[in-house]
Amino acid sequence: MENMLVLLHTESDGSLGRMALETLGAARALGLPFAAGLAGGDVQAAADSIAACGATHFFAVSGAAYAQPRYATDAAAAEALTRAAGATLVLAPATSRWNRVMPGVAHRLGGRADTHVTGIAAADRTLRITRWYYRQRMEAVIERAHRPWVVLLESGSAEAYSGAAGTASAEAISVEARTRTEVTGVQAPRSDQQTIRPDAELLLEAGAGWTKNQPDGKPHIGDAEKLILGFLDATQASLGSSKSLVDLSGEGQAVLGFLTHLNQIGQTGSTPRHRKGLATCCHGEEPHVVGWRFVTERRAVNLDANCGWARGKADVVYVADAFEVMAQVNALLK
Ligand SMILES: Cc1cc2nc3c(=O)[nH]c(=O)nc-3n(C[C@H](O)[C@H](O)[C@H](O)COP(=O)(O)OP(=O)(O)OC[C@H]3O[C@@H](n4cnc5c(N)ncnc54)[C@H](O)[C@@H]3O)c2cc1C
Repeated sequence: MENMLVLLHTESDGSLGRMALETLGAARALGLPFAAGLAGGDVQAAADSIAACGATHFFAVSGAAYAQPRYATDAAAAEALTRAAGATLVLAPATSRWNRVMPGVAHRLGGRADTHVTGIAAADRTLRITRWYYRQRMEAVIERAHRPWVVLLESGSAEAYSGAAGTASAEAISVEARTRTEVTGVQAPRSDQQTIRPDAELLLEAGAGWTKNQPDGKPHIGDAEKLILGFLDATQASLGSSKSLVDLSGEGQAVLGFLTHLNQIGQTGSTPRHRKGLATCCHGEEPHVVGWRFVTERRAVNLDANCGWARGKADVVYVADAFEVMAQVNALLK
């Protein structure tokens, strides 16, 4: 029988993030018994928040050393929790924190790890995971006989667990983690500089049209920047872009200063997993739209009623000037 551990870490405020709750949702959907393992500074509030999740047992590694992401302490905590639970299957969210350590933890345990997993199911007494290959063109279904098996589940792959809070009694696991690294602070880009937000509900996509000559014969880059950043600020949406727009800087043209190639979506860009997407000033050509594979609710604003989005690639296309539409949307968001 499978001995499953759902392995979670807390966020800096002591809560469980959305990906943690999605992983819990995926574990519950399997219909197999599972234990929960929590790591963090103080995990009691997090354990209480999922007290009714159906876990047979709660294990906890807590303390100041586990409040910050750090390889040595995170790996030691994850290893100790897995050993304490005697887990044959470890299901963990593919957060940057767990992604970094779990393959190493699997090695320490003599196990195997699969990253970027997008689904897990149990049928015919067999566990199967799904995972994409070759830039999301091929989907594989994988079984493994080797145990322990560490599975890192991507965001947006399962419904997040929600349930009443209660009181969870967690067994404290003591860990001796040696580290030479002391975290003295965190430096992060200002929120208006950091435009890629994988956990956001909505993707705003900016195409090259924002930098093109407008009906008055001139480009309006400054207005475009204000409208896009204003929308991102009000909604905390993530910003994607077309290849044409991010390439323009290489051709010496005026571009939106906050865009880099990391924002590019498509065949040679990224394939984000936001539930909703709004494309603006983007033509919706196939090499771009393949990057929208996982975006299930799609809308587009384009001056051209014959753009690619209008050919079955979006649910709704607004044939309108994106400068005017976004100005009104931003006004409504205030
Ligand atoms: C091998 C290969 C790989 C590629 N990989 C990628 C990739 O990964 N990602 C990617 O994005 N592309 C990729 N491309 C390029 C892709 O084919 C398109 O050229 C690109 O996506 C076009 O970008 P765009 O729609 O922003 O620009 P454009 O084609 O210039 O479209 C601009 C749009 O803006 C609209 N517009 C202008 N002003 C306004 C306004 N005021 N209001 C509303 N709409 C307005 C116009 O009507 C037009 O539809 C690839 C191409 C090749 C050959």
